[in-house]
Formats: sequence, structure tokens, C-alpha cells
Amino acid sequence: MVILVINAGSSSVKFTVFDMADQKKVLASGLIERIGIEGTTMKYSNHRGEEIKGEVPVKNPQDAVRIIAERLLDAKVGVLKSLSDIKAIGHRIVQGMDKIVQPVLMTADAKNIVRDCGVLAPLHNPHNLMGIEACEAVLPGVPNVGVFDTAFHSTMPPRAFLYGLPYNYYETDRIRRYGFHGTSHGYVAKAAAALDGRPLEKLKIITAHLGNGGSVAAVLNGQCQDTSMGLTPLEGVLMGTRCGDVDTSAVLYIMKKEGLTPDQADNLLNKKSGVLGLAGVGSSDLRDVEGQADKGNKLCAQALDIYAYRVKKYIGAYMAVLGGLDILVFTAGVGENSITMRAAILKGLEGIGLKLDAAKNSVRSPEPRVISTDDSPIKIHVIPTNEELAIAEATVKLAS
Ligand code: AMP
Repeated sequence: MVILVINAGSSSVKFTVFDMADQKKVLASGLIERIGIEGTTMKYSNHRGEEIKGEVPVKNPQDAVRIIAERLLDAKVGVLKSLSDIKAIGHRIVQGMDKIVQPVLMTADAKNIVRDCGVLAPLHNPHNLMGIEACEAVLPGVPNVGVFDTAFHSTMPPRAFLYGLPYNYYETDRIRRYGFHGTSHGYVAKAAAALDGRPLEKLKIITAHLGNGGSVAAVLNGQCQDTSMGLTPLEGVLMGTRCGDVDTSAVLYIMKKEGLTPDQADNLLNKKSGVLGLAGVGSSDLRDVEGQADKGNKLCAQALDIYAYRVKKYIGAYMAVLGGLDILVFTAGVGENSITMRAAILKGLEGIGLKLDAAKNSVRSPEPRVISTDDSPIKIHVIPTNEELAIAEATVKLAS
């Protein structure tokens, strides 16, 4: 069964084509960037190792899906004989609030809910919807399935998801914590249980998805109990350009002092803060900041220290939430690749059962692996995330 997975953003469309019947093999994948801006480019590669990259005439998501379809059928680099080979399309959707908590077929009703949930994800849901509508136009009759970033966190109890705001804001506006990266947290928790050889339903797991955006989740017997992101993907740990947890009074102070509009404050907190804002070297990429810290830049070293400290605090908090811990999982760009950041996060946690094996931590590999010592009471795993595969699996389940 061939499944197309689409992740439609504000100016990009990412795609992956899986043959789920042939060991979930990736037939082709790629990315169209700068849609609607001059210099739109497309990267495309297939399972034969052929790659193409270049400018494409794409002005909107519909053009994007059309050109993806053309490449998939291309005589040289294509991987499909006919578009009818595609049995279903899985879409990443960011915000489903508490209205959609499972993968769903994108019927007119479901699309309306995604549209309504867009009030809380104005930068994401409208573009996700455009991706669905583009697929409906270019691939008519193929079922579209929505897989929601928020869904995995829907099992959080009210004590974890309610803010200390007047209750009517929850009742009337659904202001609460939703959490994000749920597809990734769910995928790596399951993979960690498989690597460990114990059932997910009997494990206490903390998943640390540390990429450009970052979040930590507490997973009890396969169900999310708490996560660090909130109403939007701004709350929680320090991120590439997002501030994470901050006293809202600090924001109100800056807004008043500088006369910032809500949109300007939003931009400051989401795009100019985090590692970018603290390190001050014009990059939010941890590789650059680690490089500068190695050369003696004190602000870069401090930003990395804050990054590690925030994650460490969430690990401690979630061990308390779970009443112990069996496995800590690192995933995403930083979690999978930064040997020094993993070591910094885990420094001093031996006493609470997290013993890192320095040699195992230093191994670079695309495979899921254990990096704790053999006698560590709590296992530490590095599990490469694969949100596309998780979306494809959910899509197959629903479509068949
Ligand atoms: P993601 O959002 O999961 O794609 O993660 C992207 C981020 O991972 C980048 O912005 C980097 O900060 C980080 N990253 C990727 N590779 C490395 C590496 N080898 N060392 C440190 N950080 C890395």
C-alpha cells in the first residue's frame, strides 16, 4: 500500500512516499521551499539514490502537490506508474485542541474543526488545510487523513493542562495546555519500549524531543501525563528561537516599555529569543553555538548551560509526576546528535539513577541505541524520530 505523507507549512511543503507493504520503504521524499516567494526550489530524491534540486514554478500549495505528482510519475526519477497507486494521504496537522484526539478522515466536518482550531494555531492550521485541499484537487478520490500534533497529549489530566487563570477562559475559549510534537513523542516512546523489550503499557518513560523546537513529555503506561509545551509551542524548555517558560510579567513589562503590539511581542518571543537571543551570535543552530562556546564565547557557553538546565529541570519534575522512571529518551536534531548537550543535561543525575556511559554516548549512529551504563537503574535511549512514518502508519490503519 503506497502512502503519501504531506507536511504543509506557511511557505514549504515536505513530502514522503512510503511503500507500507514493502517493509515501509521510502520510495521518494523531498521538500518544496519558498512557496509564494521568489526563488521557489524543490529537492527530490528516490530510493534508487537519484536526486534532483532546482527552481520550480510553484506559487501555492496546489502547484506544489501538482509538481510532486509529476515527479513521482517522471520517466527518469519517478517511482510510481500511476497516481492511483497512492491509496491514501496522511497530513500533519498541528492543532486539534480537545476536539480531535485521534487520526481522522478529512471529511468536510473534520476540515471545519481544523479551521476552527486555527484560532490557536494561526501560523499552522490554515496551511495544513491548504495542503489537504491541494491534495483533494490534484488527487481526487484519494482519502486524506489528518494526524494531529496535539493528539498524543489528550490524555493529560486537568491538573496538568489547566493554567491558573480564571476558569471561564477555559470554559469559553478553551485556553489550556495542549502540547505539541505528539506524533514524535508517541513514536519514540513506543520504539523505546520495543528496544527495551518490555511492554509500553508497563513503563514510565520521559521523552525529550529536542530539535529547533523542543518539548519533554511524561508518559505513563503509554499515555501522556504531562508535556512542556502549552497552549502554543512556546512554553517549556529553551528552544532555538523561542523563549520557553518565562514570567508573563516580564513580557508585559517589555511590551509596555517598548510600546510593542501583541504581534510584535509574539515575534520577539517566538523568533528572536531562546538560544538565538541569549547567545547573540546570529544563529539558533546548536552546532554554531557549541562551536563558538568551544572558542571561548562566554554568552554561547551560558546559553548552552541554560538550555541543559531547563531540560534537566523537566526531567526531575516528570520523574516526580511519574513516581519514578524506567527510560529517558532523547530524540530530534539536538537530542539525536549533540553528544555534549546530552552529557550536559545528564551531568549530576547519577544520584537519581541516570548513569550515562560516556563511550556509548559518543557513538554516532542513525539506529536506536542505549547510552546508559549497564548498571544504570534507569535506561537512557537515543531514538531517531520519524514523524512521517508514524503519520503513514496511522493513515494506513484508518484508510484500510
Ligand atoms: P530538528 O528541528 O529536529 O530538525 O533539529 C534541528 C536542530 O538540531 C538544529 O537547529 C541544530 O540546533 C540541532 N542539531 C542538528 N545536528 C546537530 C549536531 N550534530 N550537534 C548539535 N546540534 C545539532
